[in-house]
Amino acid sequence: MNTKQWFWMMEYCKKQCIPPAQSWAWEMAKQAYDKMIETTENYWDCECRHNYIHPAAVTECVICKAVREEQPDSMISEVRVMIEGVDVSSERIKAYCDLSKTNIPDGI
Ligand SMILES: [Zn+2]
Repeated sequence: MNTKQWFWMMEYCKKQCIPPAQSWAWEMAKQAYDKMIETTENYWDCECRHNYIHPAAVTECVICKAVREEQPDSMISEVRVMIEGVDVSSERIKAYCDLSKTNIPDGI
């Protein structure tokens, strides 16, 4: 695990209101990280600072002239945010935090 991942997972635990010292929470953060960095070949990133996600059917960005073959696949999490126009994870986090007040697994 690299430092970047470690910090991301710590941040995730903080946002989720779960204790990173607990192995079940740390495992949850690890899975979330793996999901976060998952990419899809249906979309790709160009070099633009904003609106850099393009569907695979688009082979070149008209703004920065990046071409699909030379650019990385987009992260699924970013594609989802772009499509839905909202950060869905934050809503989910809120729901989880409300839930966790009454439903924290114990004895693990
Ligand atoms: Zn571009």
